[in-house]
Amino acid sequence: MHIARLFKNKKPVVSFEIFPPKPDYPVETIFSTLDRLKDLKPDFISVTYGAGGSNRERTEVISSKVKNNYGIECLSHLTCVCTSRSDMNEILEHLRKNNIENILALRGDVPKGYDEKEAFKEYRYALDLIRHIKEEGDFCIAAAAYPEGHIQSDSLQTDIKFLKQKVDEGVDFLITQLFFDNRLFYNFWEMVREEGINIPITIGIMPVLNANQIKRITTLCGSSIPTELAHLLSKYCNNADDLEKAGIEYASKQTQDLLEHGVDGIHFYTMNKPEQIYQIMKNCNLTNR
Ligand code: FAD
Repeated sequence: MHIARLFKNKKPVVSFEIFPPKPDYPVETIFSTLDRLKDLKPDFISVTYGAGGSNRERTEVISSKVKNNYGIECLSHLTCVCTSRSDMNEILEHLRKNNIENILALRGDVPKGYDEKEAFKEYRYALDLIRHIKEEGDFCIAAAAYPEGHIQSDSLQTDIKFLKQKVDEGVDFLITQLFFDNRLFYNFWEMVREEGINIPITIGIMPVLNANQIKRITTLCGSSIPTELAHLLSKYCNNADDLEKAGIEYASKQTQDLLEHGVDGIHFYTMNKPEQIYQIMKNCNLTNR
């Protein structure tokens, strides 16, 4: 089923992102995570993809399991950096054969050691991938949106202009980059509407469960850490359990506020940690949907 249909029929759409286990762990280690996530009745699950296709097989295997064994709608992430059009056709064919109907179309980042010119030879932006997928068949397409602007963008306004191009090319719904201050999203929401973007936007929520991890991720993606969260990070810097509790509480409050503002959906970046996601969902009355 096309996930776009879900957004027409229910609100909020609740979904999860998982990532394939690292290469030195068997792919099967994800199944206990999936067993638990299934109990939380997600509307769909998305599976990340390594830029340049570094974990391509694992993304394909896990996406297929989610859809065909767990019976949960799957959104397979796909990046186009460092990929040729013929390889892309092969990937799309493989997804189609595995009944995957939904793709999160991303540019990806140039992996370390790659030459930029080479990496962007066939696709420069996610827009080029979206065009290609549109030509190749009847996929439902999602794209990334950045409430604080993409880290390489000159301004939020410019980034939104490029976002509009992606949407006009046939994107069905958007998933946001993580953010920790809802006011940033409400401002972005107003700006995209003014730009004429009216497709559903589901909100990426990342609970802070580990201080180093969150610092690394926010440095890479450019999301800001508001004072309240910075205070929690420093208060509990020597107590991992208390930081996790505070992180769950923070994410619960953030999610509750977004739900009260009538957002289309919540997409939990689960970090493959189902129990913490369960806690947040319980705090927000999302477990008995
Ligand atoms: P684009 O939409 O192409 O934008 C990239 C930059 O180019 C932006 O600064 C934009 O403003 C600019 N731009 C866009 N179009 C034009 C144009 N026509 N002319 C000039 N400038 C333009 N990465 C992974 O490797 N694997 C994943 O699984 C993954 N999942 C993600 C899931 C979500 C929800 C999000 C938000 C991000 C994810 N990423 C993932 C990270 C993503 O690949 C990076 O953020 C990447 O840097 C940009 O990808 P994009 O698709 O947003 O690129």
